[in-house]
Amino acid sequence: PYDVLVVGGGPAGAAAAIYAARKGIRTAIVAERFGGQVMDTVGIENFISVTYTEGPKLSAALEQHVKEYGVDIITGQRAANIKRDGLLNIELESGATLKGKSVVLATGARWRELGVPGEEQYRTKGVAYCPHCDGPFYKGKKVAVIGGGNSGIEAAIDLAGIVEHVTVLEFADTLRADEVLVKKAKSMGNIDIIKNAQTTEVLGDGSKVNAIAYKDRVTGEAHTIELAGIFVQIGLVPNTGFLKESEVELSRMGEVIIDAKGATSMPGVFAAGDAANIPYKQIIISMGSGATAALSAFDYLIREAE
Ligand code: FAD
Repeated sequence: PYDVLVVGGGPAGAAAAIYAARKGIRTAIVAERFGGQVMDTVGIENFISVTYTEGPKLSAALEQHVKEYGVDIITGQRAANIKRDGLLNIELESGATLKGKSVVLATGARWRELGVPGEEQYRTKGVAYCPHCDGPFYKGKKVAVIGGGNSGIEAAIDLAGIVEHVTVLEFADTLRADEVLVKKAKSMGNIDIIKNAQTTEVLGDGSKVNAIAYKDRVTGEAHTIELAGIFVQIGLVPNTGFLKESEVELSRMGEVIIDAKGATSMPGVFAAGDAANIPYKQIIISMGSGATAALSAFDYLIREAE
């Protein structure tokens, strides 16, 4: 068995594997795709000490760093469940099972998509999902935020300080965001909130976004707003479906519940990154939590072995 078996090869999993392997213990990463969400990212300007990098470049650097330590990297495999029989067993969709004395779950999350024409074509060319990451790219421009929940209204307030104007499009006839956030958004001079708005298409000039089309769900009227960016804020879905039948406790949102040391409800199982219930989903935060989870796994192993 592995001493530490890491599930997920994004920033959290890579950090966990490096921290574990540096203790001289047998470590493996099993992942569907190495790099995780970073592979879908173009410009990264908030990875501290690196002024600017790009997703595939950072991902390659992560893999290179992990390989320095002789970590077994198993890609193209999806975990299907976790069970215990003395050891921890990660059952894979392929039917195989990997065994570990401890496990770090770092399967990340994915942004819920609009599913309208143009979204796919203009992803990272005006269609964005992370205001902390991409907000500054739209300085002085017009943008829309899709979604009037807490994350949408928070995004609108955040962006309003950077961009020229923000239009919030909410599908329902009410905003689900907390009243204090809605009040703050309404007090800002450059945020418009449109309810009953069904986004129908992302429009562009072939290389970047230049407008968004929506339908007024009450009147049926079609509208177009000219803008440079669209921030989709309709939910972040943790990749934790494979844990539903397991001993690992999940939050209402499907996030793995961890304590300050990264421990889950299942002994010997730790979690990190976007899959866990840690606030703020960012590369640097995922890496920090991956390091925490690995150090806690090591701590668990030395106590278990006594
Ligand atoms: P992920 O990166 O999601 O990695 C999850 C890993 O788990 C992957 O290897 C995946 O293949 C694997 N996996 C998933 N399910 C399974 C399974 N069942 N079995 C096996 N493996 C599985 N953050 C920033 O800090 N700065 C930015 O500029 C920035 N820009 C972003 C732009 C975009 C378009 C997106 C989508 C995100 C951006 N983020 C940014 C957020 C950042 O990418 C995430 O916070 C970070 O990647 C989370 O790391 P993670 O390791 O927890 O998960």
